[in-house]
Amino acid sequence: MLIVQKFGGTSVGDLERIQNVANRVAATKKAGNDVVVVVSAMSGETNKLVAYAEHFSPNASRSDMDMLLSSGERVTASLLSIALNAMGLETVAMSGRKAGIITDSHHTKARIEKINPELMNSAIKEGKIIVVAGFQGVNENGDVTTLGRGGSDLSAVAIAGAINADLCEIYTDVSGIFTTDPRIESKAKKLDKISYDEMLELASLGAKVLQNRSVELAKKLNVNLVTRTSFSDEEGTLITKEENIMEKPLVSGIALDKNQARVSLIGVKDRPGIASDIFTKLSNSNVNIDMIIQNVGHDGKANIDFTVPVSDLNDAKMVVSKFVEDAEVDGVSYDENICKVSIVGVGMKSHTGVAAKAFATMAAENININMISTSEIKISMIIAEKYAELAVRSLHSTYELDK
Ligand code: ASP
Ligand code: MG
Repeated sequence: MLIVQKFGGTSVGDLERIQNVANRVAATKKAGNDVVVVVSAMSGETNKLVAYAEHFSPNASRSDMDMLLSSGERVTASLLSIALNAMGLETVAMSGRKAGIITDSHHTKARIEKINPELMNSAIKEGKIIVVAGFQGVNENGDVTTLGRGGSDLSAVAIAGAINADLCEIYTDVSGIFTTDPRIESKAKKLDKISYDEMLELASLGAKVLQNRSVELAKKLNVNLVTRTSFSDEEGTLITKEENIMEKPLVSGIALDKNQARVSLIGVKDRPGIASDIFTKLSNSNVNIDMIIQNVGHDGKANIDFTVPVSDLNDAKMVVSKFVEDAEVDGVSYDENICKVSIVGVGMKSHTGVAAKAFATMAAENININMISTSEIKISMIIAEKYAELAVRSLHSTYELDK
């Protein structure tokens, strides 16, 4: 197999850990695989470099920042190559440039435009282990760019796509994706497999493990992603196409988002264009809207409820209070003490009664549901924040995720 192995900052956090990574890479190679390794900077390094820059100036040029920050990954790539070499393996260390990673010119948050994999492909043919510095590329002028914080996951997925790797393994300090947050429900189980779409919907469970951007790219490039820990041999979680999952579970996981607030508009003038006016102004103020509910209007008035991230609540308040002043809305109320509990699973597409079961579970616990929204593979409910953990645990057991 051709395997891309990406090691994050904690996995290469000191020299001993770099040696552990070298041992793992060597074992993968000796088992008969071709290996391309992508590494992050040693943990804390990128922050240290940012602090160095800030010592001289709070507004260093973005291209200078890219020259600076890209060095962290080059340190680990070279050290790992040296370590592997010392073990008798043939290696080649590559910067983003040598790996052929071409980006646009948005310094410090560049997007990968294409990858020219020729040098990587010929090194693989020669049987060499390639060690690539993650998080970086070059623009068309040859200036070094970086892909945004946490961007070496993206390097790994893009490279795996470009060289047609069979597998892209992302090694972190977490052992995989769980049915729910194990800090809330200790019976949470690690998933063997999950589809790209489920993973994207469960973002709040996987956020610490994988950036959404990387999952989206993996889906687009059809890259089989595995998240696993570098601290043991424990198998991780495979994130793949839905078609590759034979036994589709009804529900794969329960996600919790406490970072939500509700805005309730009472007595909204029921006229064409009002929703457009309100939500255009909110979007112009960069307020991120999640759920929206409008009830059936009567007496020329309707109520509209919506949710926003807590951090956007103040901006939302400013926008809607203007509508109250202008007598387009009678009144508003806000609730920060809410949360969103979501049930995610591809099996819902073909089974009925999943939502009914969720509502019955809330009823049995005497938890009131404020808002409901659904997609093809997700049911989300807004409830009082004080019931968050209880709701997660009850749903986890309703759908037998602990079995
Ligand atoms: N070293 C970079 C950062 O800390 C990139 C990465 O670790 O993925 O953001
Ligand atoms: Mg990272």
